[in-house]
Amino acid sequence: MNFFETSRQVTVLGAGMVGVSCALALQAKGWRVTLVDRQGPGQETSGGNAGVLSRSSLLPFNRPGLWQALPQMLLKPGPGLSVRASALGNWPWLWRFLWHARRTSFDTTTVALDGLIQLSGATHRAWLRSAQHHLRETGWLWLYPSDLAFAGSAFAREVLQEFSVATEVLTPKGLHDLEPHVAPHFSHALWIKDAASVSNPQAVVAQYAAQFVAAGGVFQTAHIQSLSQQASGWQWQTHDGNVHWAPNLVLAMGPWSESVLAASQLPSRFKVHMGFERGYHRHFKAVDGVSLGRPLYDTAGAYVLSPMCNEAGESLMRMTTGVELAALDAKANRTQLEAAENAARKIFPMREAVPESDWLGARPTTPDSRPVIGELPGCPGLWLAFGHQHIGFSTGPGTGVLLAELMSSEPTSIDPRPFRPERFEVA
Ligand SMILES: Cc1cc2nc3c(=O)[nH]c(=O)nc-3n(C[C@H](O)[C@H](O)[C@H](O)COP(=O)(O)OP(=O)(O)OC[C@H]3O[C@@H](n4cnc5c(N)ncnc54)[C@H](O)[C@@H]3O)c2cc1C
Repeated sequence: MNFFETSRQVTVLGAGMVGVSCALALQAKGWRVTLVDRQGPGQETSGGNAGVLSRSSLLPFNRPGLWQALPQMLLKPGPGLSVRASALGNWPWLWRFLWHARRTSFDTTTVALDGLIQLSGATHRAWLRSAQHHLRETGWLWLYPSDLAFAGSAFAREVLQEFSVATEVLTPKGLHDLEPHVAPHFSHALWIKDAASVSNPQAVVAQYAAQFVAAGGVFQTAHIQSLSQQASGWQWQTHDGNVHWAPNLVLAMGPWSESVLAASQLPSRFKVHMGFERGYHRHFKAVDGVSLGRPLYDTAGAYVLSPMCNEAGESLMRMTTGVELAALDAKANRTQLEAAENAARKIFPMREAVPESDWLGARPTTPDSRPVIGELPGCPGLWLAFGHQHIGFSTGPGTGVLLAELMSSEPTSIDPRPFRPERFEVA
């Protein structure tokens, strides 16, 4: 194989929304792409999420005001945040994450995420094509139980206004007119209109992967263990002892990216310190004649209820929980799920839980809440695309487009600097 043939050849490791999107975007620029995963596309975090694509997601959790709220959050933990003992072992991430809850960092992050979200929204809509039926352009709702709770969200609303995100404040009557089956327990609702949602996130990732294969892309199953640099290109080793080579690699293994880097001998002083904001979901059978037109976020109960459908096309409700800080592989604890179900049943009619539908995933979060997108310093040909925290399902496509532009040395659609891996170089 000569230089010209290998220079535009790449292997993407990880087939969640981010990896599949990188594969599709690179393929569209003429790259020969192999996509690798230990299982089928979208079987992990990208399959189990709430399926919300929203411009409101430009607001990271570490924002101004977090320090002041912290004592209350720790002394009287609500349903939205549970800190397990195993999370404390990850204190290097924790304190960096808190350190970034400052105005300057917040301003950089919100501008960067807004660009990535808008680029992703346009790309999702272009790619959805034959999966259009999964897309609902109806926005989503944030629900507040009292005037006090609504007043407490003033900062978020101000930021959304600053970014011209379309929203409408609804009275109890307005909420009833929009969602007649939601119980009248809320003094206010914020309808985020610049938002869409999908009815089956896993099916959407699978559809994108099918489009990639149909256009000549190769999908390979392998359990990746580590990476190593060669005189030309990169080797990746698998758990069964096999060794593969590629001139260029994209590491897009979501929550598992950091551990693969740690297991690899790399000539780079890069240390990202990834946090794991774990979250659960449970499915409920829908009541005949009762529907929800859009996902809703009950701010008091700290869960999201999303109308979805399964592979057989049957309607169901997916309830996703708030944040559980814990080690990536810590045992599941269903306390948040049970609390969320109790709260959700009071506001929306649902039948019994779907047997064995409980799921646990981890939002991979960098200290500054911005994903890492770019070439690893000191490692030409090794590109990173991970750390998409709460919004990787929506921002995978924009990540793919940006990465493909960078790898093809083209002008970029958005400013790549806030996402550069260089910000995590250690002295
Ligand atoms: C409860 C919850 C709700 C969420 N709701 C939303 C939402 O509404 N909207 C939104 O945009 N985002 C949401 N998110 C966040 C979103 O799901 C993630 O940011 C996103 O899925 C991350 O995508 P990814 O491709 O980076 O990771 P993943 O989807 O986890 O993909 C990583 C891939 O790497 C593969 N892999 C791992 N290890 C290996 C190995 N050793 N060898 C080979 N392959 C390997 C895995 O099999 C997997 O396919 C939510 C997350 C959670 C937990």
